[in-house]
Amino acid sequence: RYDVCALGETLIDFTTYGESDQGNTVFEACPGGAPCNVLTMLTKLGRDTAFIGKVGKDQFGKTLIETIKKVGVETKGIVEDEKVNTTLAFVHTFPDGDRDFSFYRNPGADMMLTSEEVDFDLIKDSKVFHFGTLSMTSEPVYGATMEALKVAKENNVLISFDPNLRPPLWDTLERAKEMMELGFAQCDILKISDNEIQFVTGVEDYDEGIRIIREKYNIPLVFLTMGKDGSRAYYKDIRVEMPGYKVETIETTGAGDTFTACGIGGVLEHGIENLNKENLAEIIDFANAAAACTTTRKGAILSMPDIEEVEALRNKSRQ
Ligand code: ATP
Repeated sequence: RYDVCALGETLIDFTTYGESDQGNTVFEACPGGAPCNVLTMLTKLGRDTAFIGKVGKDQFGKTLIETIKKVGVETKGIVEDEKVNTTLAFVHTFPDGDRDFSFYRNPGADMMLTSEEVDFDLIKDSKVFHFGTLSMTSEPVYGATMEALKVAKENNVLISFDPNLRPPLWDTLERAKEMMELGFAQCDILKISDNEIQFVTGVEDYDEGIRIIREKYNIPLVFLTMGKDGSRAYYKDIRVEMPGYKVETIETTGAGDTFTACGIGGVLEHGIENLNKENLAEIIDFANAAAACTTTRKGAILSMPDIEEVEALRNKSRQ
């Protein structure tokens, strides 16, 4: 019934919104959380999606459920925690575009999802299961993620993984690396960023880093994102690179997730076994354009572009 099911965090990203009259920093409460962002973009591409996760029984949790429902993602897999509040993340963007995350997650509701609360039918009924490492930082959500992966594997559901490394959330970076590697060992589709591949392999050269993990973990399809410089795709012995789009970027939250969604969308359209140089180039070019559109607005879930906007950007840059 579903094209893609994702499990993990949904949270409020507070992005800076200038200053108040008194000179205090103002924040905008943007619904987000990587797996949910990915599903939102997939719905924009016309895909049926379902989310599994946990929010607090508070106003932010209500807002998240309403927003996710409104964008067209199935929300019946979302559970409310009676005691723990919805997870919050404050995102400070610096003039050079770099971001600093402060998480309010000690714990946050997303971490409290238990295996018993997971609606495994949503996974069984999907073509692709997507996850990241935020649902691997601690129990009980770690156990829920492991069970979900098991169900996905048993039911021949394609597995998609985006580590989304957030160093402050880990007790040690060694543990973060171990969990990234656990994800590599499970996935069929990997989306990884330039910083993450350098972090996990310790190798400067991206191609070499990707070669090392593909060889070690036998990952069929890898997408590498390189911020404004665009992206690469690796499949069998094919390597494709497409440049990024020049846009008026104001905030990059959700860009990687928009890209991931377009990558998964491309796999669903062609079938993973039918990927070739031409369709991969088309997939990552569309994904670059879509992700660039997301950087022109704040936040993630409500800043995803529709297909028309993406095609308009592609047409404009072809002229
Ligand atoms: P995030 O953590 O914000 O989701 P990420 O680190 O996973 O992002 P990036 O490599 O920063 O991923 O960005 C993903 C894609 O978004 C890039 O491959 C590119 O296509 C697009 N993108 C990112 N930043 C810009 C930018 N400043 N201008 C144009 N496109 C961008």
